[in-house]
Amino acid sequence: MLPRIPFRILLPFLLLCETCMVPARGEHRPDAPLKSRPPRYGALSVTDGRLTGSDGQPAVLHGVSLGWHNWWPRFYNEKALKNLHKKWKCDIVRAAIGIEPDGGLLNDPGKAEACLETAIRTAIRNGFYIIADWHSHKRHPEEARAFFDEISRKYGHYPHLIYEIFNEPTDDSWPEVKAYAEEIVRTIRANDPDNLVLVGSPHWDQDFHLAADDPLTGPEAGNVLYTVHFYAADHGEYLRERVRYALGRKLPLFVSECAAMEASGDGRLDYAEWKAWEELLSENGMGWVAWSVSDKDETCSMLTPAASSEGPWNDDALQPWGQFVKKRLQALRQPARSVKKRPTTARNR
Ligand code: MG
Repeated sequence: MLPRIPFRILLPFLLLCETCMVPARGEHRPDAPLKSRPPRYGALSVTDGRLTGSDGQPAVLHGVSLGWHNWWPRFYNEKALKNLHKKWKCDIVRAAIGIEPDGGLLNDPGKAEACLETAIRTAIRNGFYIIADWHSHKRHPEEARAFFDEISRKYGHYPHLIYEIFNEPTDDSWPEVKAYAEEIVRTIRANDPDNLVLVGSPHWDQDFHLAADDPLTGPEAGNVLYTVHFYAADHGEYLRERVRYALGRKLPLFVSECAAMEASGDGRLDYAEWKAWEELLSENGMGWVAWSVSDKDETCSMLTPAASSEGPWNDDALQPWGQFVKKRLQALRQPARSVKKRPTTARNR
């Protein structure tokens, strides 16, 4: 039998032991299990063309996209991400990992990995969904395979991670994008049987009607959604009609990038068209991810150049689009009020 040692004597030894177990400064242990907080709807899946949570009920996600990591790495930090989740009420954040430009993944993979790791690990620890977005306009299948193989192996067992495998194809045809998607989905599914995969379509994710006519099939089709990107001042009713067409064909859709200004990311904000988009999405149980957490002097940058890297950001640190998105996200997360039933009268019967 062990001798009984008073706790006040034992405590200094316990603290000493714990100090010894803390990894040395700078030591990175990426494979250590993370303390995970479950995201709002648990493990997501696609049921009968719609996004559902682990309870089988519809899951509607709202959030923001960080800007290109190669230009705005300063916002890829734990405090900024926590502020977007806790203060702005984002259910989901998108990590836009730039591929082609200088400083992108192709010529600085270390920087891309550091930004993405921070985003994924913060999401897992704090309980929100994170999109690992291959933010590219051209196909790079070999590099994409390596990228998605690695993150699906490391993090595919957490329900927080969503893979966006090709941000916005510009020059590729749908058969080319489809073949690429099948290949990347197979790579991911070898490690992770179930997390969501987002598939783009030609012309900046606007030709999803082509996917509706010729979607992925077989084992590669499971838990796949097709991305819709819109910029409301340029993309109006014709693109909403395409959404109705695709949903009518039971194509699962996901708005992983959108905003209220022109497609250039600059120019005027069109709130009337934005409202029409929100109404369509809401009617169909769909959320949105708004572009973007960046600080350029342009309409789509939510923050000012003087904004801190970590937040929290008051209105004076936000450009008009940032103020609007923050308010919309907070309003969408208000708990539903219980509405008292009005007595029936001749007027409101
Ligand atoms: Mg999984």
